[in-house]
Amino acid sequence: MTDIQQTTKASSDLPPHYDIAIVGGGLAGASMALALAPLPLSIALIDSVSAMEQVQANYDARSVALAHSSCQIYQALKVLPAIQQQGEAITKVHVSEQGQFGFTRIDASELGLSALGYVIEIPQLLFILSQALASASNVTRIAPATVASVAQVTPHQQQLQFTDHTPLTASLVIAADGVHSPLRQQLGWPVKQVDYHQHAFVANLTLNRPHNNVAYERFTPQGPLALLPLHEKMMTLVCTVPTEQLAFMRGLPDKEFLAFLRQQLGYRVGRFEKIGQRTTFPLQLLQATQQYQPGIVALGNAAHNLHPIAAQGFNLGLRDVACLAQVLITACQKQQAISDETLLQEYWQLRQKDQQKTIRFSHGLVSLFMTEFPGIRFARNVGMLGLDMLPMGKPWFARYGMGSAGYAQRLARGISDE
Ligand SMILES: Cc1cc2nc3c(=O)[nH]c(=O)nc-3n(C[C@H](O)[C@H](O)[C@H](O)COP(=O)(O)OP(=O)(O)OC[C@H]3O[C@@H](n4cnc5c(N)ncnc54)[C@H](O)[C@@H]3O)c2cc1C
Repeated sequence: MTDIQQTTKASSDLPPHYDIAIVGGGLAGASMALALAPLPLSIALIDSVSAMEQVQANYDARSVALAHSSCQIYQALKVLPAIQQQGEAITKVHVSEQGQFGFTRIDASELGLSALGYVIEIPQLLFILSQALASASNVTRIAPATVASVAQVTPHQQQLQFTDHTPLTASLVIAADGVHSPLRQQLGWPVKQVDYHQHAFVANLTLNRPHNNVAYERFTPQGPLALLPLHEKMMTLVCTVPTEQLAFMRGLPDKEFLAFLRQQLGYRVGRFEKIGQRTTFPLQLLQATQQYQPGIVALGNAAHNLHPIAAQGFNLGLRDVACLAQVLITACQKQQAISDETLLQEYWQLRQKDQQKTIRFSHGLVSLFMTEFPGIRFARNVGMLGLDMLPMGKPWFARYGMGSAGYAQRLARGISDE
């Protein structure tokens, strides 16, 4: 991979041309670049933040839980061994509701797996992806460079303008520029949005004992709370609170915040010895109801942003990445132009069902646990007990949590060059 860090001047009057320009080098954009790297195409991977800054890790780095489906995709991209080495396996998930009798456990061994997924810090995963891209001479990273706009020059050529870089053209632009996607907004693509009136507190914690690779999901009257295993005694917390309690919760000293967590979680997890910096995120469901037009397609959070309740957001985005890569790989094999409009139509047709199903599952889970109608609590608990006891119930729930693993396996086969 070539790095372009400073403003370059085009050697002729024409701006430099790339077959594919990926705007946004976050998890979605960097994974997309890696999936496309084996193709005989020139690829620009553009980000407003320098590569160095993106991969800087510290105690407070945010993490993602990669579902089994994502592991299959990263296996095909040959980075799974590094993820397994740097990340932490989830072997069990314990789901419960505060003050209620029902709970369910999902155990990897019962499903014949060594792990349900892996938790890894985002800067670490970005580092692994950039290491893997280092040997791809056809991928040029352009950073820091902020894209200001996109315009169609011809049906087969898009031009990107920057605030701090010379323009460039591309046959296909992939907008992986995050939930506020400046490109999606400039193009005026409509979105469906649900404000959950909740914020997530994210923080890393150290326990007094090893976490034994168990992840906890606890539904409390405040909102759902998740603790994910991270290195030996460290866990990463995602704790949801209603927005009206945000200022109060932010103001709590660490000791009182930990006491609040203890009250929410009980003593199952162990004692908390340290908590890092608390970062907050407003929670909303966003889905772009238009995700492409000729020559441009949105990916990752630019296409959909989910409540973190079921750790589905990036896992869904990575299945989109694998599917788009598969469509483009097949097009290259058939010597079809990658700017061909039918390719994005085909991609969208292939992805709609999984996107709708996953969004419905995660939104349904939020709604179910936010509802306080009489009887619903009881039904939820019976449901959780049922999930634990019925032979069919748990694999169904686990399959969603694991992120449509069978479908991902087919996608992974499509992008594997073996
Ligand atoms: C609290 C929380 C917990 C989560 N936990 C999980 C989990 O466990 N599992 C899971 O699957 N998902 C999880 N998610 C979701 C996951 O974090 C996101 O889906 C994922 O990080 C999005 O990656 P992305 O590459 O699409 O977007 P981003 O990470 O936002 O990347 C967008 C990139 O585009 C760049 N950019 C933006 N504008 C421009 C521009 N104009 N020019 C150039 N570059 C630009 C930015 O600098 C950035 O690097 C969680 C989310 C939250 C909030």
